[in-house]
Amino acid sequence: MNKEKAVVVFSGGQDSTTCLFWAKERFKEIIAVSFDYNQKHILELECAKNICKKHGIEHHTLDLGLLNQLAPNSLTRQDIKVDKDAPAVGTPNTFVDGRNLLFLSFVAVFAKQRGANVIVTGVSQSDFSGYPDCRDVFIKSLNVTLNLAMDYQFEILTPLMWINKAETWKMANDLGVLDIIKNETLTCYNGIIGGGCGECPSCKLRKKGYLEFKETYLTK
Ligand code: ZN
Repeated sequence: MNKEKAVVVFSGGQDSTTCLFWAKERFKEIIAVSFDYNQKHILELECAKNICKKHGIEHHTLDLGLLNQLAPNSLTRQDIKVDKDAPAVGTPNTFVDGRNLLFLSFVAVFAKQRGANVIVTGVSQSDFSGYPDCRDVFIKSLNVTLNLAMDYQFEILTPLMWINKAETWKMANDLGVLDIIKNETLTCYNGIIGGGCGECPSCKLRKKGYLEFKETYLTK
């Protein structure tokens, strides 16, 4: 089992960028993989590309346009507006059915081709926004499925699974990449880099976490 090489699912957002640098510290070699699924915030792919280029990290973007045909949602369709608040029942309209299942499956195929066993993803159950495929039980289940599907020993690592946004900011700070996360990543559903639009659920979560982080960890 090759424990020195890791493939990181990398969107260019806050969480996956933090995971990228987390992995960079731990593994001899890392490869970042992004997906193009016609997301409105297509600029995130530019962020991903730029961050990797700047830090000498091998980066690949895979085409997953099919996802947009199959699962209409407010992240990919111009005619669907992003929900401002999570609904009382069911998943928010920013949820893309099957996204993490497909991303991780394709990354696993890629990882096996490259002789890597470790896969890193930035999903989090603490701040999961009602997305079922960010939960630990799903990741554990998929890990077993992938091992059986390809007769290969994958290890899916989820450094953010049990921490909230404030603690994710702290992790970035501890890794010495706070400014990169603050200024060069894109989390905003409306496609505004860095601080974002401030209005969408993703911006609200990011900002709330940052203020909490500043209060809890920076003022002492
Ligand atoms: Zn926003």
